[in-house]
Amino acid sequence: MPVYEYWCPGCKTRQEILLPRFDSEPPSCPKCGGNSLQRRFSTFMMQKSYKAVYDDILGDSQMMRGMMNNDPQALAAWNNKMSGGEPVAPEYQETIERMERGEMPSVPADSGEATG
Ligand SMILES: [Zn+2]
Repeated sequence: MPVYEYWCPGCKTRQEILLPRFDSEPPSCPKCGGNSLQRRFSTFMMQKSYKAVYDDILGDSQMMRGMMNNDPQALAAWNNKMSGGEPVAPEYQETIERMERGEMPSVPADSGEATG
């Protein structure tokens, strides 16, 4: 049975509550009885996977050096690692490909302005 993490705004405490299903009704707060608990993402799963990714990156001294020097290829490699091999959004694909070729892509200074 999975443990879900809830935040209780009533008593401002974090509660870890066992629920039979992910889509179960939110329980009431075991501390104050409030029923406005907000589900948090289960952090222990994410922490584990992110830690593995960070360890991987930190263990790659060549990439770390490249990132320190704003090396676009290192940034592209970092992006690949952080995305976990997921396909990047189409609008980033070209940027990533350029970085992998060693070009530093130009970033629009103000993304709020629509051009064209
Ligand atoms: Zn509470």
